Amino acid sequence: MNDIEQQRERWRTKAREVAKNVVAPRASEIDAEGEFAWDLAEVYSNYGFLSLLIPKEYGGMDTDITSFCIVVEEIANICASSALLVIVQAVGTMPVVLGGTSELKEKVLPRLAREKGLICFCLTEPESGSDAASVRTKAELKGDHYVINGRKCFITNGGVADFYTVFATTQPGKRTEGITGFVIEKGTPGLTVGKTEEKMGIRGSNTTEVILEDIKVPISQRIGDESGGWWQMMRTLNRSRPAIGAQAVGLAQGALDYLVHFIKGKGGAKEKKDSLGVQCMLADMAVEIEAARALVYKSANMIDEKVKGTPVQMFSAMSKYFASDVAMKVTTDAVQILQWQGLTRNHPVERMMRDAKVIQIFEGTNQIQRMVVAHTLLKSK
Ligand SMILES: Cc1cc2nc3c(=O)[nH]c(=O)nc-3n(C[C@H](O)[C@H](O)[C@H](O)COP(=O)(O)OP(=O)(O)OC[C@H]3O[C@@H](n4cnc5c(N)ncnc54)[C@H](O)[C@@H]3O)c2cc1C
Repeated sequence: MNDIEQQRERWRTKAREVAKNVVAPRASEIDAEGEFAWDLAEVYSNYGFLSLLIPKEYGGMDTDITSFCIVVEEIANICASSALLVIVQAVGTMPVVLGGTSELKEKVLPRLAREKGLICFCLTEPESGSDAASVRTKAELKGDHYVINGRKCFITNGGVADFYTVFATTQPGKRTEGITGFVIEKGTPGLTVGKTEEKMGIRGSNTTEVILEDIKVPISQRIGDESGGWWQMMRTLNRSRPAIGAQAVGLAQGALDYLVHFIKGKGGAKEKKDSLGVQCMLADMAVEIEAARALVYKSANMIDEKVKGTPVQMFSAMSKYFASDVAMKVTTDAVQILQWQGLTRNHPVERMMRDAKVIQIFEGTNQIQRMVVAHTLLKSK
């Protein structure tokens, strides 16, 4: 193994140990309570999982996208909800890392990496979801600051974050060319947290509305130049979608591992183990998970290797939708094989099936990912 591979394996070992020893005893409780797991956030911070993509000079771990995916996969194998915390921290941070001034980086990144701060990514609005270019939150320049007004919804970490990465339009009607990113600090007058969503899955993750009313934001808290937001957002999503795929792979593997363990163990009926029908379903699950994993790490590797001319956006979209569709199928089949037992909270596959449904929706729905792939294919010569 070369140095990079050894480093990645060290991240896998760390994440696997934390998942087994710290997360596993909490996973079903987090789901049942639907509460943000502050204890796990603390542990993840201590292990560096919440500063994976922050450069070293700001106190972060400065890992590559492959290591990021490995950490997410290992945690999601046990608990997809808290794996989302690792992803969202990176998603909120990346626009600043990719496009922020040194002054903004200095203000935000060390607080996340060294002081255990949390961040969120505020794009979606009640009237602007899949069509992200239609954001209505408005930022108007008035002297040395912007005044921001708007309403964001379905924001992961919205109620627990110290920083809010917010995308607004500085030129209404200009769509992608008018979008600008800002970082707003918790406690800024005019920033309030609205309703907390009661979700069917990924229940341990905090999802809220974020309301922005006449918020004064200094120019220094703008991320890069005006109208640079679309580019920052797209580059961020290209990097986070493989990690969402890794979350789905981890979840699906967790469901299959549990199922196999149960069927082989005392609780499993002999007919299940001997049934050709069940055996074929198990084989399909294993193959589909391996195929999804290969696609996820291929797309992560494309980003790490910075190969010019590769359709990174297409592979990121493929890995997100294929892996989450596999997770949905695998967890549904796991419940099906366990029959009435699979429907009860005595078995984690019930929770995993609810979690898989949510992964098909966030970070761009799977329909939208298919559109990205098709558009890339039709555009290419
Ligand atoms: C648990 C959770 C956490 C989230 N966290 C965040 C977050 O942290 N930050 C954030 O900004 N957002 C977040 N979101 C929002 C998420 O990204 C959006 O829900 C998603 O992008 C879809 O937007 P929408 O819900 O408005 O659906 P819509 O855009 O209204 O779409 C509705 C349906 O129509 C389909 N559709 C829409 N347009 C097309 C089209 N052109 N062709 C074919 N089908 C189409 C969609 O696939 C979907 O099935 C989160 C969502 C969830 C569920």
